[in-house]
Amino acid sequence: MPDFNALTSAVSAWIAHTETRDWLLVLLSPLFFFTVAIEWLRFRREDKISSKPVYDLRDSMDSMNLGGIYTLVDVVIVVTLVLPAMAWVYAHRLTTIDITPWRFVALYLGVEFCYYWFHRASHRIRWFWCAHVVHHGSEHMNFTAAMRQSWLYSFAGNWLFYLPMVLIGFEPHWVLFTLSVNLAYQFFVHTQWVDKLPAPIEFIFNTPSHHRAHHGRNPQYIDRNFGGTLIVFDRLFGTFVQETVAVDYGLVRQVRSHNPITLTIHEWVDMIRDVLRPGPLRLRLKHIWGPPEWDRSNDNVAHASERSSRPHRTARP
Ligand SMILES: [Zn+2]
Ligand SMILES: [Zn+2]
Repeated sequence: MPDFNALTSAVSAWIAHTETRDWLLVLLSPLFFFTVAIEWLRFRREDKISSKPVYDLRDSMDSMNLGGIYTLVDVVIVVTLVLPAMAWVYAHRLTTIDITPWRFVALYLGVEFCYYWFHRASHRIRWFWCAHVVHHGSEHMNFTAAMRQSWLYSFAGNWLFYLPMVLIGFEPHWVLFTLSVNLAYQFFVHTQWVDKLPAPIEFIFNTPSHHRAHHGRNPQYIDRNFGGTLIVFDRLFGTFVQETVAVDYGLVRQVRSHNPITLTIHEWVDMIRDVLRPGPLRLRLKHIWGPPEWDRSNDNVAHASERSSRPHRTARP
């Protein structure tokens, strides 16, 4: 029987003194790159004759560039902004919840719940979409797509979604560590290698099949399957879709650039341009909090047609 208390104290000591939010992902990066290499080898022969290759060298380089910049910048933002803000909330916490193995499970479920709402907000509120759009910019689905992230996430305020866990008494380092474990899991759902898994797993967990659908620009797949490790919140809150027809990966209005700066800021630039257009203040501000596809020229139409007929714009027409 393993000594859970000794193990927990050792892990706690490490977590409490380290910025684990990014370092866990850095530590795991050899495993990530190894996984990329074997997936690339697996599809290399088929990709040579395929009209829709799994791997495209330029595309994967873009993803890895963005992943590298994201990791470097995010460490700085987490240390200088996120952890101090979380420490302030923790100082005003409602109670104190020390970590035990079962409480870690509860924390993981809580962080997953927060992640679901962060991810849903990232698709339905343009401010957050400006950062998240980067992750959806690849027209290919392979493990390198998981690395495609925006270093402006912390600026957009993704960490605000996890503050409730700190407020109820979980230590900020533990909350961020748990989020990193969740993100590390998500690396492995970015693949076409794995078809559907056994039904009980597909019912509970976010799987490659569910996440392939999430990356689709086919109308039926847009704004579906927001879960990180689990798919149960999508089932509960009505955002689940089964992968049926072949997924067409990417954005409805694809951004054709390999420049990491362009790939990171294009939607911010578009949003600011929309806000600066003359008009009533209420409508101008709605470009920030409204859904990404909303356009003031047909405000009522956008409401009536909901999400399916006007999927995400990434540039002005
Ligand atoms: Zn997404
Ligand atoms: Zn993804």
